[in-house]
Amino acid sequence: MTDSRPYVGRFAPTPSGPLHFGSLVAAVGSWLDARVQAGQWHLRIDDLDGPRVVPGSIDSILKTLERFGLEWDGDVLYQSVRFQAYMEAVNALVKMQRTFPCACTRKQLAGHEIYPGTCKMAPNVDPRSLRFSVETGTVSWIDGGLGAMAMDLTTEVGDFVLRNAHGIYSYHLANVIDDMHLGITHVVRGADLAPFTAAHLHLQATLGGDVVRYHHLPLVLDERGRKLSKQTHAPSVDDQPTSETLQAVFAHLGMPQVELAPVSMMLVEAQRHWRHRGAH
Ligand SMILES: [Zn+2]
Repeated sequence: MTDSRPYVGRFAPTPSGPLHFGSLVAAVGSWLDARVQAGQWHLRIDDLDGPRVVPGSIDSILKTLERFGLEWDGDVLYQSVRFQAYMEAVNALVKMQRTFPCACTRKQLAGHEIYPGTCKMAPNVDPRSLRFSVETGTVSWIDGGLGAMAMDLTTEVGDFVLRNAHGIYSYHLANVIDDMHLGITHVVRGADLAPFTAAHLHLQATLGGDVVRYHHLPLVLDERGRKLSKQTHAPSVDDQPTSETLQAVFAHLGMPQVELAPVSMMLVEAQRHWRHRGAH
């Protein structure tokens, strides 16, 4: 896997609230990986789904990143203004005959983790959404955090939604189109997104994009073993002291202890540890 392209990474939070410890881990991990490889680090705001955007949270996320010394390169990319690009990509996939209309309701799909292929087998009336038709076969990749990974496209990915019944483009589509747009070479993100990697690699390959390298970071769980999220009322890191919080982030990422200091100094020390983490 030789790759001579300069490193371009990113952090892509959903503005559904302020950053919590779990999202800060993803921000710090992706920032460190980009910085030690003298790469760029972009910030993308996943505000595709208007109703899920919590007012004030975009400002809060930008301020938090600044407070923790995580400077990004270039302008912030907002998914809410990328409609045209998503539409063009879907049109290209339609032309390639890699899509089909789906009439299934949420109720009909209840209990199916993987789309059962209902509308692929029988033409439907009154289509609601548009799905990507995956090929058969396996997608495999060497994950920077998880090691050798492989997923079967038919049984573990399935024909996923490109545009839903409300005309909203899917996370999978927008994510891939934006990674291609920014020239992303490396994605470092939380392990909760690892199951989507095969879909992202497959869609990007179909659209002629370059191969992206993935690194999934260990998830942060609360005391009840649940992933930290808005739903589990994860506290905002804005209410916590920066240096102590950063120290805990580094510990979660498996680094030797970094002494408490101003965040800029701690980040320099953390880059040294990240660089020497062994095979990467
Ligand atoms: Zn269907």
